Amino acid sequence: MIVLWRTTTHCNYACGFCAYDRRLGGARRAVPAAEAMRFGTLLAEWARASGETVLLSWLGGEPLSWRPIWPVSARLAQAGLAISATTNGSSLDRAAVRAALIADFREVTVSIDGPASIHDALRGRAGAWDRVRSGLRALAQERGEAPLRLRANVVLMRRTLPHFPDLCLGLAEWGVDEITFNQLGGRDRPAFFPAERLRPGDIAELAARLPALKRDLQACGVILRGGARYVERLAASADNRALAIEDCGQGAPFLFIDEDGIAAPCSFSGAAYGVPIAALRTVADMDGLAARFAAARAARRLPTCDDCPSTQQFAKFAA
Ligand code: SF4
Repeated sequence: MIVLWRTTTHCNYACGFCAYDRRLGGARRAVPAAEAMRFGTLLAEWARASGETVLLSWLGGEPLSWRPIWPVSARLAQAGLAISATTNGSSLDRAAVRAALIADFREVTVSIDGPASIHDALRGRAGAWDRVRSGLRALAQERGEAPLRLRANVVLMRRTLPHFPDLCLGLAEWGVDEITFNQLGGRDRPAFFPAERLRPGDIAELAARLPALKRDLQACGVILRGGARYVERLAASADNRALAIEDCGQGAPFLFIDEDGIAAPCSFSGAAYGVPIAALRTVADMDGLAARFAAARAARRLPTCDDCPSTQQFAKFAA
């Protein structure tokens, strides 16, 4: 089971395409440490009872700024969970942060979108690119034989797409193990979207370049993920074509939890299909979760499911 948990909506960066841009108003929230421990422990119990592995991945906002992350991760790693996080990389230049990641995490995904000038402009922070580069390089060197996978995730938009191949080859030199990509979405910040969204021709160009880029990276020992089905999802979005998922409960178990403790099949469906994790207290409750989602979907299917934006449904991580 893969569990993505958005533990905080705080962030120190100002990305114009993100809902958690620090310049935006509104209340910022974070998950209480005790509830993270309680539910994480239940996930570990479920893993033991079911014989499944559980990857628990912290999201934000900036999840490494969530204060409980280090003690909670250490305890849950000891309990048997594989711990992961997706970070903007702003704290990777701190030796203590790298040591904690190496000790207790199995995976770190760093968001990086282009060469220095573009990355820094998109993040709203001069020096962000230098910081993430030095932090990632140090992490790659210091991990030694520790089983910590390093991944970079790139948001593709008109500004970043032309630089994607060079960025990937640069990331290989920094020591990442794999690279994933998303195309810019328009839900979080609709005003940013029109000038930067990818067009059908952009996707065609990407699709044409991917095979050679995958081979070049493979020669460096780096996996560029994203299969044909994923590229088709990107093409459909660029072309305003809907791609429905009839039943997303049939694949590997996948859970998204938001900062208010609502668990759902993805980040887009909490309001319609969500179940409060406060109501999940036992392994049997966890076993019954898929049926609860299915019942909610049968009672009131979300229009979003008729054009499912969840990348995990479209082989984002296929090699
Ligand atoms: S949007 Fe996609 S992943 Fe989310 S509930 Fe609907 S079909 Fe499932």
